[in-house]
Amino acid sequence: MASNDVLDLHICIIGAGMGGLATALSLAKKGFRKIEVYETASNLGFVGAGIQLAPNMARILDRLGVWKEIEREAVDLKETSIRQGSTDNELGHVDLKYIRSTYGYPHMVGHRASLAGAMYAGCQREKSITFHFSTGAGEITSWGPQPSFTAIPRNGEPHQVQCDVLLAADGVKSTIRDQLLHLKNISAKIIDTGQAAYRIMLTREQMSSSPSLLALLDRESVTRWIGEKRHIIAYPVSSKQIYNLSTVQPDANFAAAPSATYTTKGSKPQMLDVFADFCPLVQKMLNLVPDGEVCEWKLRVHEPLPFWTYESTALVGDACHPTLPHLAQGAAQAIEDGAVLAVVLSKLPNTTPEAISKGLKVYETVRRERAYKLVELAAASGRAMHLGEGAAKEERDRQFAALREGKGPVPDKWADADVQKVIYGQDVVQIAEEEFDEIFGRV
Ligand SMILES: Cc1cc2nc3c(=O)[nH]c(=O)nc-3n(C[C@H](O)[C@H](O)[C@H](O)COP(=O)(O)OP(=O)(O)OC[C@H]3O[C@@H](n4cnc5c(N)ncnc54)[C@H](O)[C@@H]3O)c2cc1C
Repeated sequence: MASNDVLDLHICIIGAGMGGLATALSLAKKGFRKIEVYETASNLGFVGAGIQLAPNMARILDRLGVWKEIEREAVDLKETSIRQGSTDNELGHVDLKYIRSTYGYPHMVGHRASLAGAMYAGCQREKSITFHFSTGAGEITSWGPQPSFTAIPRNGEPHQVQCDVLLAADGVKSTIRDQLLHLKNISAKIIDTGQAAYRIMLTREQMSSSPSLLALLDRESVTRWIGEKRHIIAYPVSSKQIYNLSTVQPDANFAAAPSATYTTKGSKPQMLDVFADFCPLVQKMLNLVPDGEVCEWKLRVHEPLPFWTYESTALVGDACHPTLPHLAQGAAQAIEDGAVLAVVLSKLPNTTPEAISKGLKVYETVRRERAYKLVELAAASGRAMHLGEGAAKEERDRQFAALREGKGPVPDKWADADVQKVIYGQDVVQIAEEEFDEIFGRV
């Protein structure tokens, strides 16, 4: 149990996304009494899109008391099917039913709004958490002791906010990250992956005229159609009332605006063109997307940062380890960050700036290697899915063929048993609990 002094630390979180919400709730559950969350947007504002809810995420959300609510309308995955985009022929099939008994939690898929909404509702039940929506964080005026930043309310005067610990969960475009790196005259090496994603949600009603589409919606399955430099991953969410599709393709607007925007309005004809050689089933779904409702995300990552923390300030989530979606782990990793932060801060021996700074270093030590390993695995999985004709593709397809005989690794990494063991089999909260003293003693 943390001392009263430690629990009285004033902790500010920037960003109410996946990482920010999980951090706030984790801290409140540990007994911290003064947690403030600053969010630029006027509300949670989550895009209409699905999300995979992996067991390592579920384990943490269950401890935070919000998993049951999310699970209620999520879909429990029984299998995944990886198919040739052009023909719809199945390349590989993986049974996922064993996940629940092996890792204690199922691998589910759900709606982002349900995940964020449940975490937010959990936060609202905690008296210790205050949200400041429509209030962005601008310049960091001190990193510690007692970090401070300029809060910029949409309807109000900019003012200084001072706290004891500052946690920046401001996402892939993090401006706090840039300021942090600038302290040592470096800048984040943004890697433009040259890839973009369309996110699509089709309702049961939209799909109702086609038995083959309804069959997809009713199957507790993740289906991935793959082709050269492109794929589509799809699964049912919201108690099977919505079919969620997420594509990845070369970023058509890359040359025009390589880094200016992350989200752009996509064009339906362009989307249809990109997947023109995919099978009729896929075409049927893409054609159901209403004109003007195509939204495109540029996919960005950056090279591993040399450090995540400075004095009493730390980065969280995509701000320090943006991950390509191919492993479906970005939000899960942001949530792991939040849970580990709550453990290390609750274990501080005292509230001196030195102890806070070391505590944050323990967080970075526990999280860093794992987060960057998954960043690399996600990129590798994308490369394997997107191969064009050649020796590498032949080798991949040999692996798919062996898989049909029940042998060998799964090229779609998130479905590979050994990769799952690394990701789902490791409990980062337990590691932080058990290794805190040893790491704190050496950082
Ligand atoms: C196509 C796609 C599919 C994905 N699928 C999955 C999946 O299946 N499973 C999974 O686990 N992950 C998935 N991810 C990754 C996941 O969405 C992200 O990793 C996750 O949202 C990161 O959480 P975060 O809190 O770091 O950032 P975000 O969730 O982006 O939140 C950042 C928040 O900070 C706010 N903010 C930014 N700047 C400021 C500021 N200066 N002041 C105040 N507030 C600020 C923003 O408004 C935002 O609310 C996917 C990503 C993509 C692009």
